[in-house]
Amino acid sequence: MAVNMEAFKRIASELGKKNVSVVAVSKTKSEEEILELYKLGQRDFGENYVQEMVAKAQALPKDIRWHFIGHLQTNKVKQIAPFVHLVQSADSLKLLKEINKQAKKQNRKIDCLLQVHIAVEESKFGLDETELQQVMENLNNLQNVGVAGLMGIASFTDDQLKIRQEFQSLSSLFKKYMPLFTAKEKKPVLSMGMSSDYNIAIEEGSNMVRIGSLFFGKRS
Ligand SMILES: *Cc1c(COP(=O)(O)O)cnc(C)c1O
Repeated sequence: MAVNMEAFKRIASELGKKNVSVVAVSKTKSEEEILELYKLGQRDFGENYVQEMVAKAQALPKDIRWHFIGHLQTNKVKQIAPFVHLVQSADSLKLLKEINKQAKKQNRKIDCLLQVHIAVEESKFGLDETELQQVMENLNNLQNVGVAGLMGIASFTDDQLKIRQEFQSLSSLFKKYMPLFTAKEKKPVLSMGMSSDYNIAIEEGSNMVRIGSLFFGKRS
């Protein structure tokens, strides 16, 4: 079993003290591997692919909170709408409208984070500042969507300063838009930081990290 339980226990307890939530990113990993962390008390898991998340959610315990963190196509929202806990990668008004529609059909509210494009050349996805502003101004009619905060992915680089600056820019947008988030019952979420950069992210204000390879080993 490749799951690094010691790393999980150490990081979960360290971040628990700092009130930072940990999402275990289990994309490409097996149900057995997910259960290893589940047995240690982990309940938040992140997935990038709709098909994979649906299959795992059907097979695994019902109290797992599933976070969708990959690029979400509009025509696939329907499949995850019955059970998804948090869509972290909402990156257009069109997508939010579809999430709202499917949530309404399920008679529920779906919480989302808006994904902001902070890396200079890396990820293709995410809103720029102007688009974020536009989306924030158009949330009023989306009764079945709760925007709980922002998510971002820093550049894949060894340049720590660059990573820090990208997290700082997201952190300042988070502070700016916090009063307008529509998931009022929920603590505002700033999801930033992965295996290689979560410490910098937390120093810059992250309260939710998404960690895969440190827990589950490298993905093939
Ligand atoms: C894969 C992935 C992660 C986890 O990456 P690790 O480097 O394995 O910790 C976090 N966030 C997103 C959006 C991802 O796609």
